[in-house]
Amino acid sequence: MASLRACALASAEALEASRDELCRLDSAAGDADHGVTMALAARAARQALADAPDASGADLLLRLGAALGSVGGASGPLYASALVAAAVVMRGRPLEVELREGFEAAEAAIAGLGHAAPGDKTMLDALHPAVVALQENPEAPLDHAVHCAAAAARAGAESTASMTARAGRASRLGERSRGLADPGATSVALILEAAASCL
Ligand code: ADP
Ligand code: MG
Repeated sequence: MASLRACALASAEALEASRDELCRLDSAAGDADHGVTMALAARAARQALADAPDASGADLLLRLGAALGSVGGASGPLYASALVAAAVVMRGRPLEVELREGFEAAEAAIAGLGHAAPGDKTMLDALHPAVVALQENPEAPLDHAVHCAAAAARAGAESTASMTARAGRASRLGERSRGLADPGATSVALILEAAASCL
């Protein structure tokens, strides 16, 4: 079974490889920097992993959260809050046991900090379907559960193309924000797909 560390490294690689695509998606309704922000997040995550070679589980999630908090944009603090909230819920318990609660806490943290809900064309439109997929498969082994969550996140991210943004920078464009998938929802899908590919 691959570790959280391996999943984080695979996610960092996927985000770096998709840097241009995430910027392209953010150019339609945002400021074209989501790929840059996520590449910085990937670098910060790699550094956090290198700085604490023995860290694992909730401790590692907390360190990754702190690292992403240092990255700019709206998405850095949103991802940081999600990781820290998941770490708090999962502390002292095996990740595979508390995965569902960790994801639920991550979603609540982003919704609270961003004042957003599913349907607003944000990262929540990928994360919420992932949470629902985990809730629907409570007894599934970790690898199957994460695969289902990743597939749900990808479908959710794709569904944002026809949505009008109601939160964040893109909401200023109103109807003109329709057409391309939300960059943050797309990065959530990339991260979960990378994690699933490790398991
Ligand atoms: P910025 O908007 O500051 O340029 P990024 O480009 O890095 O930040 O990230 C944009 C993504 O962040 C959006 O596509 C969306 O998914 C997410 N996002 C932005 N604002 C919010 C919010 N208030 N609530 C939830 N997610 C948000
Ligand atoms: Mg942006």
